[in-house]
Amino acid sequence: MDHFLYRDGVLHAEDVPLPEIAATVGTPFYVYSTATLERHYRLFDEGMAGMDHLVCYAMKANSNQAVLTVMARLGAGADVVSGGEYSRAVAAGFPVERIVFSGVGKTADEMELALSGGVRQINVESEPELRRLSEVAVRLGVTAPIAIRINPDVDARTHEKIATGRSENKFGVPIGRAREIYAEAAGLPGLDVAGIDVHIGSQLTDLGPYERAYGKVAELARVLRSDGHDIRRLDLGGGLGIPYERSNAVPPLPIDYCEVIRRTVGDLDCEIEIEPGRLIAGNAGLLVAGVIYVKAGQDREFLILDAAMNDLVRPAMYGAHHEIVPVTEPVPGSEQATYDVVGPVCETGDTFSRGRKMPSVVEGDLVAFRSAGAYGAVMASEYNSRPLVPEVLVSERRFAVIRPRPAFDEMINRDIIPSWLKG
Ligand SMILES: *Cc1c(COP(=O)(O)O)cnc(C)c1O
Repeated sequence: MDHFLYRDGVLHAEDVPLPEIAATVGTPFYVYSTATLERHYRLFDEGMAGMDHLVCYAMKANSNQAVLTVMARLGAGADVVSGGEYSRAVAAGFPVERIVFSGVGKTADEMELALSGGVRQINVESEPELRRLSEVAVRLGVTAPIAIRINPDVDARTHEKIATGRSENKFGVPIGRAREIYAEAAGLPGLDVAGIDVHIGSQLTDLGPYERAYGKVAELARVLRSDGHDIRRLDLGGGLGIPYERSNAVPPLPIDYCEVIRRTVGDLDCEIEIEPGRLIAGNAGLLVAGVIYVKAGQDREFLILDAAMNDLVRPAMYGAHHEIVPVTEPVPGSEQATYDVVGPVCETGDTFSRGRKMPSVVEGDLVAFRSAGAYGAVMASEYNSRPLVPEVLVSERRFAVIRPRPAFDEMINRDIIPSWLKG
């Protein structure tokens, strides 16, 4: 459920009509609903009730400081994957005891940043990383609390670019070598081995792969304890999918996902961390665009929008589907059209959808891409020198620009002409 509904014939974000935002900010823009962000966080937090748990928002899904502030105020933790994300999380007010540092290639500088600033846990993904982290910790005179990310060799049955739990993926250490690697970690001076970490992929639409992966984690926890490790934390990752396409089967609900957790690892007496990103932010955001032209092609009609692949890359990158709806509510029985929905960027890949059946629209109309709150603005670029797409946060009847669209001059003046090219 989200808070983007038609009211009086106009699509609203909570209590704000989208044309009002468009008139202030211009198009395209992203808009996020605070109530939806909060609701999605609570679904997980309440689903985990009765278990010692922390919901760590995977901020790579949407790392605007205002969105992070909403999450931090709810008491969420943060899952960060870079020094930049760590710094954003701290700036947004996440207590460092709630920041988990994940990622397959942390540098010594990033380790130092987290260890000197404070961190709940660092999820280590390889033997060389264990050694590097231990060295950094020893040099700083601290002990790094760690979990080791294991690769359970489970097929998440999701898009190949976002599957992470197969043995052929770059993530984690093979589960078959876990005992050996935990033994090595326990022998390193700068590390405190606290738990096990797993994350099998993103946009998962059934619970079977979780059931299998978490079952393997539970088994491993027992084995590692019998080897003498103080396994007291399990980080179960994120990845629960959202409904992008209304006609498709609905993915499992957070409450059912949490039941899988309870069933598989609930009796281990561990603190449990989960790291949802997409499910919290995805359906909490829209990308709103204007129709520049409706262009008749040889055998098709092109809907040319002022949003493009640089603003929302998911269709070009993953072949992803986003519902595209007119901001003015179509009246029942109104005309339907079939469009190739495209942006103005000079790439054929700049196509949001081919042969999309939707209510017919005309030049100057506004349309909204649903489910665009996660992996949308964070992946935006200025390709074709299109200024970075702005973001807006709504809360009930209020809205605020949380990242302005840069002026052309700001964009240009970020570049520096070397002295030898001047004059
Ligand atoms: C990307 C990622 C997540 C979040 O995945 P979602 O599909 O957005 O829920 C969680 N944990 C790790 C380690 C990740 O890399």
